[in-house]
Amino acid sequence: MSDSVWPDGKQVAVSLSFDDARDSQLDQGVPVLNASGAKGTFYLNVERATARAADWRAAAAEGHELGNHSLRHSCSGNFVWHVANVLENYTQEAMEEELLLANQQLTDLFGDAPRTFAYPCGQTFVGRGVGRQSYVPVVARHFLAGRGFRDEFYNRPEFVDLAKVGGTEMDGVPYDQLIAHIERAAANGQWVVLVGHDVLLDEARRQTVTPETLGRLCEYCLDPAHGVWLETVATVAERVRQAQMNSIE
Ligand SMILES: [Zn+2]
Repeated sequence: MSDSVWPDGKQVAVSLSFDDARDSQLDQGVPVLNASGAKGTFYLNVERATARAADWRAAAAEGHELGNHSLRHSCSGNFVWHVANVLENYTQEAMEEELLLANQQLTDLFGDAPRTFAYPCGQTFVGRGVGRQSYVPVVARHFLAGRGFRDEFYNRPEFVDLAKVGGTEMDGVPYDQLIAHIERAAANGQWVVLVGHDVLLDEARRQTVTPETLGRLCEYCLDPAHGVWLETVATVAERVRQAQMNSIE
């Protein structure tokens, strides 16, 4: 089945995703994508999205996807920069309430409800010890897909749990290594979701992909010779969902 999931005989699906609604994504990332006609997925924290709502609205009008990245960006309290609202102190109920509120606020801002979610820090748990639970079921109830981070696999379309799609780091990764990810996934008909943060000229900064690398990556993916289906997370996830449903019938 994996041979036939992607349209037009494509061998691999690639999504370019960016987290945290950083200014550099609007100022450098979106123009690079637009120059080649590539569509990206941007996971927005509501507060940051609000600060530049008109620019995000313009990005959505160009065909980019705006997704949910929660209200509080809660991660483990073991990250020393992260002291408030840590996941160890959350419950599934509190997370559900937060994600629905974020959906509502993003819908108010942009008119459309987010269809996909990105786990802050790629972490999917709430609570600690014997009370620790996954909040993947919460994401499964309310989103077409939930995207992880720093996962050690590419997604198999016939198998992947859309509520926990694997994400592959793009920040600071040289062009050749990004292409190697895509080629490895193409050998098995898989889906690579690349994850970036800032888009800046200064590649020495942490969590950064350069406009040059991003532009070359788009060029590679849009060259028909490479058999890449470059689409947003929601568009690929919708196709995967349909394919999985058809295979059950
Ligand atoms: Zn984030």
